[in-house]
Amino acid sequence: MYERNLIRSSLKDPNGVPELSENSVKNIKKEVYALFTDDMKKNESLPKIKVGGSNGTKNGDFEYRMDEDGSANGGTVIKFYKSAFKSNYILARTILHEYYHAGDFYSGNAGMKMWSLRYKLNLKGNELQNAYTDYFERGVFNYVRGLGAYQDKNYYYNQKLYHR
Ligand SMILES: [Zn+2]
Repeated sequence: MYERNLIRSSLKDPNGVPELSENSVKNIKKEVYALFTDDMKKNESLPKIKVGGSNGTKNGDFEYRMDEDGSANGGTVIKFYKSAFKSNYILARTILHEYYHAGDFYSGNAGMKMWSLRYKLNLKGNELQNAYTDYFERGVFNYVRGLGAYQDKNYYYNQKLYHR
């Protein structure tokens, strides 16, 4: 069967194992940079990067603070957990995932979505947070899966892992 995975084909050595370092993030980011959306390219330098640690089934996280009206405050951090460094491919997929979140956040799209869920649909509390997370994670999984990750086991939006 013909297989098309743009993430894999962008990498010099998709199955290679990167060392756990910020430098690996930098290098693999360069290799998949052509797959970044405009919002990702525009905002790529804004989040801080942290490497190491673990968090259950997640390879990474985009940390930020947003109020119920969609206004954001403070800086953001992209975390790359140990499990993201299993292979260059997994690291690339994680980079694409987390930088997509950053692009969505810094473009203002995520805040506008939060605002409209709060004031147009009148959602509050956990119901609001879960509806917002559905938007935020579905968007990124659609993007990364569309690049080829739809073929990967367990790489899809699972509400159970995200809902409050
Ligand atoms: Zn995510």
